[in-house]
Formats: sequence, C-alpha cells, structure tokens
Amino acid sequence: MRLDARVPAGPLAHKWERHQFEMKLVNPANKRRHRVIVVGTGLAGGSAAATMAELGYEVESFFFHDSARRAHSIAAQGGINAAKNYQNDGDSVFRLFYDTIKGGDFRSREANVYRLADVSLAIIDQAVAQGVPFAREYGGHLANRSFGGAQVSRTFYARGQTGQQLLLGVYQALERQVRAGKVHTHARHEMLDVIVVEGRARGIVTRDLVTGEVRPWLADAVVLGTGGYSNVFYLSTNAMKCNATAIWRAYRRGAGFANPCYTQIHPTAIPESGEHQSKLTLMSESLRNDGRIWVPKAKGDGRPGNEIPEEERDYYLERMYPAFGNLVPRDLASRRAKDLCDDGHGVGPTGRGVYLDFADAIERMGREGVEERYGNLFEMYERITGEDPYRVPMRIYPAPHYTMGGLWVDYNLMSTLPGLHVIGEANFSDHGANRLGASALMQGLADGYFVLPLTIGDYLAHGELPDIDADHPAVRAVVDGVSERLDRLAALDGSRTVDSIHRELGRLLWDRCGMSRSAAGLREALERIPELKQEFWENAKVVGSELGINESLEKAGRVADFLELGDLMCRDALAREESCGAHFREEYQTPEGEARRDDESFTHVTVWEYAGPETDPVEHREPLEFESVSLSRRSYK
Ligand SMILES: Cc1cc2nc3c(=O)[nH]c(=O)nc-3n(C[C@H](O)[C@H](O)[C@H](O)COP(=O)(O)OP(=O)(O)OC[C@H]3O[C@@H](n4cnc5c(N)ncnc54)[C@H](O)[C@@H]3O)c2cc1C
Repeated sequence: MRLDARVPAGPLAHKWERHQFEMKLVNPANKRRHRVIVVGTGLAGGSAAATMAELGYEVESFFFHDSARRAHSIAAQGGINAAKNYQNDGDSVFRLFYDTIKGGDFRSREANVYRLADVSLAIIDQAVAQGVPFAREYGGHLANRSFGGAQVSRTFYARGQTGQQLLLGVYQALERQVRAGKVHTHARHEMLDVIVVEGRARGIVTRDLVTGEVRPWLADAVVLGTGGYSNVFYLSTNAMKCNATAIWRAYRRGAGFANPCYTQIHPTAIPESGEHQSKLTLMSESLRNDGRIWVPKAKGDGRPGNEIPEEERDYYLERMYPAFGNLVPRDLASRRAKDLCDDGHGVGPTGRGVYLDFADAIERMGREGVEERYGNLFEMYERITGEDPYRVPMRIYPAPHYTMGGLWVDYNLMSTLPGLHVIGEANFSDHGANRLGASALMQGLADGYFVLPLTIGDYLAHGELPDIDADHPAVRAVVDGVSERLDRLAALDGSRTVDSIHRELGRLLWDRCGMSRSAAGLREALERIPELKQEFWENAKVVGSELGINESLEKAGRVADFLELGDLMCRDALAREESCGAHFREEYQTPEGEARRDDESFTHVTVWEYAGPETDPVEHREPLEFESVSLSRRSYK
C-alpha cells in the first residue's frame, strides 16, 4: 500500500488555490458523461451529491434511511465553526487552523486543516443563501457562541438544532437536482460492498431493505459519506442504526483504515441509567458556555445538588484549567470527570455523573435568557430524566460520540483504492487525535460543497475508464460474495441475540479501549474479541428471511463488521505507545495526569491494510510534517 498524501507545494495559505489551478478539469460537456455514486445523504454526502450534479455530473445517491433527510447529521445540536470574526475578538483563518491542529494534539495533516479553516468562511455564506435560520443578534448580524478548545466565539448556531437546519439546506439543494434529473436517489438501499475492477472502485453492491434484492450499481467513481462508527461501543450518542459497514467493506477491498483507535468521548451526555438502555443522549457542548461543571468536595455526598452549599462544591475544570475553565476540549473534560467519579465524587444513582449547573446563568440572564438559548435541550433533559434542570443541576457523564478514525484519504479526499473517495466523518478527517466541538459539521460541508466536487474532477479527467457491465466477472464475484454472506447470516440459528453480543463487545471496548487504555487491558480485549466473533458465527440467532424487510438480518451484518473493527481499534491503540488527544494510554502520562506525547516516534498517521480474514493487518505510516506551527505541549491552563 502506497501512502501519497499529494499535499501541494508552496506556502500553506496558497496550497489550495494553487492546487485548484493545477488540477485537471473535466470540460462541461464531458461532465454529463461521468456517473458518480455517492453513498450517504448527511451533510457530507448530500452536499457532495447536490454540488456535483450542479456541476453537471450524473449522480446516483444511496442511503439506508427512508428519506435523505433522516441522515444522522440531523442530530447535531450545538453549532458549526467558521473563522468569520464577526465578534471582532481576534479570530482569523490562521487561528481556527491553529486551534484545530492544537486541539487534535498535533496529529493531523497541516495542509488539510488549513484548507478546512479557509473554506469555513464560504460555508456560512452558502448556508445563509439557502435560508438556514442561524441565530441572529438584535441588529440582524449572525450570532456566535463559544465551544471547547477556543478562546474566541466562532460557532454559528440555530438554537439546539443546527444539524437539522443545515441538513434541510442540503436537502433542498439535493431535491432541486433530483427534480432536474441529475441526481437519482435510492432510499432504503444498504451498500454492502465495493466493486473493484482492475484496481479501481467502479461501483457498489446494495441490498434493497424492502424487497431484499441484491444488485450491483456501476459508475466511474464512488464516494462514501457514510458517517461515524461510535456505535461499535453499543452505547453512544449516535442513532442506533449508525454503523461501519460501508467503510469496513471498503477496507476489506483495499482502502487503508487510518487511526481507528481515535474515538471522541463527549463529556456531556445524560448518564447511563441501566441495562435496558440502547442509546445515550447528548446534551450539547454549547451548554458549557453558560453551565458550570462541579462535583461535591466530599466523597459519596448523597444530598441533592441544589442543597450542597457553594463552599462544598469543587468546580474542578475552573480550578484545574483557569484559562479555558469549563470550555476545555472534550478529551480533557471527559477524562477529568472520569477521574473524579473513579475517586468517589460522582453523583446520581450510579455514582457515574457530574453536575452541569445553570443556577448562575439563570441569575445572570434570567430564566427567559437561558430558555431562549437552550430551551429545547432543557426540555429534552427533563423528558428523559424527569428532573427540571431550571431547578436542579443536570447530571452528565462522558459517552462515545465521534470517530476521528476512518478511511485514509489524500489531499484530494481519495482513499488508497483509486476512485474511492471518502468524505465527512467516514474519513480519518482533519481532527487528529481529538476533534474540537462544532468542527464536524464544518468538515462535512467543506468536503461536500467545496473540496470533493473539484478534486474528483482531477481523478475523472486522468482516468482511462473502460466500459463495464453487470456481467463482468469481477462484478458477479462481488454480488455472489454479498449474497453468500447474507445466506450465512440469515442461517444463524443459535441461542444468543445479536444485541447481547454487541452489548458485550461494546462494554469490552468501553472498558479497555475507551477513555483510558493500557497495554494489559488492550491485550485482554484482543484475546476476548476473537472468542466473541466465534460466538457470533456459532451461536447468534437471526430471525426472518432475506426476502424482505428484516431488521434482525441488517443488524447482524453490522455487528459482524463491528466485531472485526473492534479488533483493529485495539491493535491500533496498542501500537500507539504514547498518549495524544482522546487516545490516553495510562503508561504515558505526566505527573498531573495529562497526555504525554512521543513526537519522536509517533508523529504519524497509522494506516492499516487488510491482509485477509485470518491474517494480521499490515501497519503503514504517513509521517506528519509541521511547517507552520511548532509542536508544543498542549496546555489549557
Ligand atoms: C447527537 C450528536 C450531536 C452532534 N452535534 C454536533 C454539533 O453541534 N456540531 C458539529 O460540528 N458536530 C456535531 N456532531 C457530529 C456531526 O453531527 C457528525 O459528525 C456529522 O453530521 C456526520 O455527517 P456525515 O455526513 O459524515 O454522516 P451522517 O450524517 O451520519 O450520514 C450518513 C449517511 O450515510 C448513509 N449510510 C451509512 N451507511 C450506509 C450504507 N452501508 N449503505 C447506504 N447508506 C449508508 C446514511 O443513510 C446517511 O444518509 C454531533 C453528533 C451527534 C451524534
């Protein structure tokens, strides 16, 4: 596997402009001759499909949801970053670039991150032009709030529904192209494999989730915008159907998988309440703008939060990180919450919770002020917990939320499998070892609206792509392989539910490859996961038939992939013998319990190559070079 990031030459600030000039273009008349498959209609896939169609390409758009509008981007609450500097508080493209590089603990590619910060400006203009109802100041200017890891206010928001409103903008752009006949949508189709012909991605195989039909679709290039894989942990803030199947199947066909162990654990989810639960609910990071996080100073203090006097509270983030306070990045806020709960200061029935308190904010801006900013989040909290957060502090605890790992891509967003492009959360992204809040929406839309539609042209303009049809032996082989796997899954008739195996895998990964990891724990997980995989294939039960709607079968296929991915995550975490960002190896920490990087040995992206079902994957490295920033110890004190 060859890793050529294809970073353009020249000064950082001019690389993208220069690259746009140097890339080959497809002339307008030829664009309509190219068919591109886009899997996913989230902010990344939806915006890419609409924009490519607008440029003239023929686009086939696939998604497993019943409507493009149900992609998981709809769940995003807090906001989207952009370096507009509307607040005149010292923001700039370079500052957003620097914050992102530092937030990711110097484990991301400089050139990509700079482009992301640069393009952020255009995203807001595009969304406003579409009518996305961002919050505004009294005078009409767009409003901003702050997110973790930044000392400026650069987050644009639409109450607590930013993802939904941005997705409506994307959806309108997409539907416009559907009506124009340039995008053909295929709802409730699950992509189960990639078709590779003569070393290039030339199509996909899908299962129609309503009829059960398995069939190939062919094109000149394939784009995956299939989202993240936090659901490997079973309990996460993601919707229950989010999964890794598309990227995992692509990995098995030759696309390198980068940094699978980098998972973001979000500090502010509603704590787990018991075994019955299948999902965790996120309370947006925006709440940390005005809410204060604390635990009782006394261990095991069982009094209700609002009865604990001020002097008996430990506002630990404000104490430990005075410069950033409650707005430290997510990895730090999560780890400190875990430490304090491990130490006996946790609150709530399970002792795994800390308080997020709005009493001060209510006093400062009144209940109406708080309601205006966060009303829907407060309502959601009350509906789930039965507690009124205007009266008693919220209880929160960290939860798996976002995956910085994903398929490796070069500067053009192409994977190591020629023709296969990967965008949004599905690629290994620009966020290094830790993503800053409100930067995922920014990245998804940067990839989809502004980067991929241009870079894919360079691939298509260079490619000599012979005509192929469904009878091509390589196509038939993939279709047969998918059908055989579905037969095998549908025949599983053991005594254990797929869910119980998924839950066990999730617990194992949470304990051994979650907020903190150790070599001993990871080795233990690497022994247990193959046993669990065997248990799945010998003793799981799948009900129903392949010939129609069958959620049991869908789930089984996704969990089978999660079992293999879990193994790769632990291998990756074991191989990275340092702590950086969200990857915290207990053996590598400073005396104050902060992550200790090893820049000498680990300033690289780890990329794994699939080597066969019973063979260990092969490790490759993309060295990271920093020309514009110097590697420093991340400090938020
Ligand atoms: C609760 C929550 C709140 C968040 N809040 C914020 C926030 O405030 N700001 C921020 O920047 N980020 C936020 N994030 C992160 C952000 O929402 C996501 O990273 C981003 O929306 C992902 O977009 P995407 O387009 O990559 O994927 P998604 O929106 O997840 O879309 C995936 C698409 O792929 C399709 N798909 C997947 N697999 C297949 C398959 N095998 N076959 C066919 N189709 C498939 C799905 O149908 C869907 O259309 C939040 C995340 C969560 C979970």
